Amino acid sequence: MAQHLPPDAPVASLTDCAHIRMHLDAFADGELTAFDAHDHPLTELVGAHLRVCEPCARLEHALQSLRAALHALGRREQVTERASDALRRRVAQLLASR
Ligand SMILES: [Zn+2]
Repeated sequence: MAQHLPPDAPVASLTDCAHIRMHLDAFADGELTAFDAHDHPLTELVGAHLRVCEPCARLEHALQSLRAALHALGRREQVTERASDALRRRVAQLLASR
């Protein structure tokens, strides 16, 4: 996807969107620890890009939302699992009391 960044944008932000998006998932997870070819932390590179590139910033926001949703879903599944554990115990009790 071609992006037209302002000519005075920081050099780091001139990295193309496809490259930034490869790292966006890890960035949103706070797990981006790699460095680029010039020893700049990729978090800085991606952060600088997100400040000047609205589509990528929106995507990062969507990833954060997705992450929050998955987190909430994960919690709900834990609750469900606890419920089914209790149910299994109850069934076992019922079977044992026959
Ligand atoms: Zn971009």
